[in-house]
Amino acid sequence: MEFRDDITAFDAVKHDQVVGKGKVNCQISAKLFGVLTEHGITNHFVRELSENELLCRKVDIVMLEVIVRNYAAGSLVKRYPFEQGMELPHPIVNMDLKNDAYHDPLVNTDIALALGIANLQEQREMREMGLRVNEVLAPYFAEMGLILADFKIEIGRYKGKLIVADEISPDTMRLWDKETGKSMDKDVYRFDKGDVSATYQVIHEIIMGK
Ligand code: 5GP
Repeated sequence: MEFRDDITAFDAVKHDQVVGKGKVNCQISAKLFGVLTEHGITNHFVRELSENELLCRKVDIVMLEVIVRNYAAGSLVKRYPFEQGMELPHPIVNMDLKNDAYHDPLVNTDIALALGIANLQEQREMREMGLRVNEVLAPYFAEMGLILADFKIEIGRYKGKLIVADEISPDTMRLWDKETGKSMDKDVYRFDKGDVSATYQVIHEIIMGK
């Protein structure tokens, strides 16, 4: 996997280059995949090849994004009457179709089944994988003073099994500073909240220093 410096939001309507982002996200992903491996969560990461390339197992990506939420934000707040920033009584898992032309719509079990994307057993397993990743990463970030509000993972088929794939970085999660509530993730870019490069650098330093 090659990590580029491109950054996009809102179906790539907003698109920029952030110098050094590829390298930072590559190293953060490598570290987080390593943490998952340590906790027995199988994933595609093999080793780092260069500062912006990871050697990964070649998977057949399931065209669903598994989203896990601990706090209300983003599309959850837009679509449902949750108060922005509230802690959810239990993690919420939802699946979005990986399809930019349709704006990655939220899908239910039957829609994913009818589209032939994943059978019921696979969908159940993907939900469990999302929750398991959350059980590992939420306390991991909490120890660093960061709230893992929500995140997206992608899952691939590999030798008859489902494994975590793609990237795990500030591009794919919402991280909030526990003290100040400040966004430390792609929302900084989406909503022009500050210097995205500096923000990702801070997360990189925190994670690498651990
Ligand atoms: P929301 O549904 O609120 O837009 O997103 C929930 C979480 O999943 C956020 O952390 C967001 O960054 C991540 N996410 C959802 N869809 C995508 C996507 O298509 N690309 C990336 N990079 N992250 C996504």
